[in-house]
Amino acid sequence: MLSDRIERLTESATIAMAKKARQLKSEGKDIISLSLGEPDFDTPDFIKSAAKEGIDQNYTRYMPVNGYDDLREAISNKFKRDNGLEYSKDQIVVSTGAKQSIANLVMSVVNPGDEVIIPTPFWVSYVDVVKFAEGIPVFVESTIETDFKISAEQLEAAITDKTKLMMFSSPCNPSGSVYSKEELGKIAKVLEKHPNIIAMSDEIYEHIVFEGKHASLAQFDSIKDQVVTVNGVSKAFAMTGWRIGYIGAPTWIASACTKVQGQFTSGTSSVSQRAAIAALNTDPECTSQMREAFHKRRDLVIGLLKEIPGVKVNTPPGAFYLFPDVSHYFGKQHNGKTISGPSDLSEFLLSEAFVAVVSGEAFGDPNCIRFSYAADEKELIKAVSRIKEALTALN
Ligand code: PMP
Ligand code: GLU
Repeated sequence: MLSDRIERLTESATIAMAKKARQLKSEGKDIISLSLGEPDFDTPDFIKSAAKEGIDQNYTRYMPVNGYDDLREAISNKFKRDNGLEYSKDQIVVSTGAKQSIANLVMSVVNPGDEVIIPTPFWVSYVDVVKFAEGIPVFVESTIETDFKISAEQLEAAITDKTKLMMFSSPCNPSGSVYSKEELGKIAKVLEKHPNIIAMSDEIYEHIVFEGKHASLAQFDSIKDQVVTVNGVSKAFAMTGWRIGYIGAPTWIASACTKVQGQFTSGTSSVSQRAAIAALNTDPECTSQMREAFHKRRDLVIGLLKEIPGVKVNTPPGAFYLFPDVSHYFGKQHNGKTISGPSDLSEFLLSEAFVAVVSGEAFGDPNCIRFSYAADEKELIKAVSRIKEALTALN
């Protein structure tokens, strides 16, 4: 018998859809996969060279659990350079992807029965990690009408004496929304009144912003000691497979995360850490070509989606996802079967249009589906055209 803990855990919807798409592709089906969120670019050569040098220099042994000293120094400098944040090396913990950073944090601060505020839509793994820790997710809803952002008043109304943590991403996966400095300032004012609440600010898409400027929640001094800033190299440097994420946190939280990691996995891959030093010591403008490509594709796909009757789409300023409201199609029939929600609709699009997208349900929004537009332009055009054809055939 499996544990209750594992029975509570659902499979990651993004990974499940990517697996299904891979399986169908291997069977010879012409699947276009817009399900998994990862840059379709190669890791830049200077980063790969640093990894090769790392191997030659015998960076091949166990290292400190929280990461090599010079990597944590590079991260400390990066926080200052890019975000204006002061984190000393002992406030930084390097992990096997931001995914592990988030899990470490939740396991470190959430007790059974603690409430964790999660604005919707949210990145899939937040909720399951909270449930794994026996915390209680408390959802604060946003919709396409508010550009998928919550207000400070909504946050305030959700806080109880059981609230322990609040978790959000900006730029947001799946909506691409970006909270401005002013909006974060209002959220900071609420948090300031509740010094026992910890806020996790997931900033992994910080370099993929097309309009406006990325702002960090920890910039507000009055709450700096309540904020854990999560980041990583996966998205900014096209390094999803290298598995490097990190946090900047108050020392007591950083020490707790190191303790969790010391029992579960230890320090992450030595070679990846050498590569991450090269990435983080470089001006992030080196990735501007990727950002420009995403920007162009975003506009392309939005234009095409707007041509599909009934599809509502906003213009997200960041990340590489679109999160259209497709509720117009719920209740319609295909082969006698009713499409009752976004999960049925994504199954339908996979089987009829051969396009893999992810149901909004997994992200806490039952009206939407998520597209990753980190794909080749020709494929994107083909995908939306097939989606249009499939949807307009529904009645
Ligand atoms: N946070 C968000 C918002 C994400 O979209 C992802 C995955 N793409 C992660 C964290 C985890 O990233 P990784 O584990 O690759 O660093
Ligand atoms: N985070 C990416 C996504 O949302 C990758 C998949 C995952 O790690 O769950 O698609």
